[in-house]
Amino acid sequence: MKIREQFVPFSPPTLGPEEIAEVSDTLSKDWLSTGPKTKLFEEKFCGYVGAESALALNSCTAGLHIALMALGVGPGDEVITTAMTFCATANVVEHVGAKVVLVDIEPDTLLIDPREIEKKITKKTKVIIPVHYAGQPCDMAAINALAECHGIHVIEDAAHCMPSKIGNQFIGSSKNLTAFSFYATKNMTTGEGGMLTGPKDLIQKAKVLSLHGMSHDAWKRFEKSGSWKYDVGIPGYKYNMSDIQSSLGLVQLKKLSDLYGKRVRIVEQYNRGFKDLAQITRPVVKPGVQSSHHLYVVQVNNELLKIDRDQFIEELKTRNVGTSVHYIPIHMHSYYQNKYGWTEKDFPRASSAFKKIISLPLSPRHSEEDINYVIEAVKDIVQIFKR
Ligand SMILES: *Cc1c(COP(=O)(O)O)cnc(C)c1O
Repeated sequence: MKIREQFVPFSPPTLGPEEIAEVSDTLSKDWLSTGPKTKLFEEKFCGYVGAESALALNSCTAGLHIALMALGVGPGDEVITTAMTFCATANVVEHVGAKVVLVDIEPDTLLIDPREIEKKITKKTKVIIPVHYAGQPCDMAAINALAECHGIHVIEDAAHCMPSKIGNQFIGSSKNLTAFSFYATKNMTTGEGGMLTGPKDLIQKAKVLSLHGMSHDAWKRFEKSGSWKYDVGIPGYKYNMSDIQSSLGLVQLKKLSDLYGKRVRIVEQYNRGFKDLAQITRPVVKPGVQSSHHLYVVQVNNELLKIDRDQFIEELKTRNVGTSVHYIPIHMHSYYQNKYGWTEKDFPRASSAFKKIISLPLSPRHSEEDINYVIEAVKDIVQIFKR
């Protein structure tokens, strides 16, 4: 194949003149930190997903952390989550001093397997954190039923979910605390940022925790109607979102439906391109849900190829195609292996999937031509290295 000169980046952001104008507008005013634009962003986000309440934060990790705190999770408690996730999902459990309990995945969707969750529930289980991997919602009917039956909470890691749905309900509209990410590579971005949605009372608790533990709307203390007085009832964190970030979020939210449409078209293009390729397993989306298509994760079929996944990635790189791997499972990181004694055998499906997965370039910034080129590159590698 003819290798093109221009690199195909994995996930370039989708910012344009509208975002720049909105940030300029904020910079020209006197509110730089949490203020009116953040309040508006929270309202608009609530309206979009149909949440009862929302809190803008400086990351999804911050959201997951204070969600655990708001639910009173601490030493002696167990928190169940999936082996196939970003380290942040498990790290926050360590931050509050609780024990991480990992569960294996479904081999096709790579989502947490509810039947495996059930086996790991004990008297100490306080929270389940399902991760809507790649933007596909987990089986929340099963997970919520398990939680209700055992009197435990659910916190949804919705870092990939804008916009994901179960039936016609957006992720973020449930009664569970739900954490979204606006990190630079996510479907909508504020550079760094996150949003926590859920019931009013819990979001109010999280809000206090996110700003030093100071009482009621402490940021208003610099307004004319505000007061300099506040009380610290708990030593909180510094997790609030700035109005500069919220400016980006406001515009990205406006553009989201359009950006999502472009993602759908790219995924369809990939699916058509890989249809008859036995060496490549395409991602599976179950009926009844809408995936946000945050990632396009293929699995290379090791038995039908002379090269492994790592070499496949190198071959793509020499063809100027950027990729990533989502994720190195939690039980394969040294901290977790040392602390919990986990090996690959403990979570065989996640371990096996890890050896096959590659996330291909996916962003509304990519043209039809870019994606055709990636498909051509994958086919070229398969042709050369097939068994
Ligand atoms: C990106 C990501 C996070 C962390 O998001 P930040 O906003 O960077 O803190 C958490 N969980 C998953 C699954 C993610 O992909």
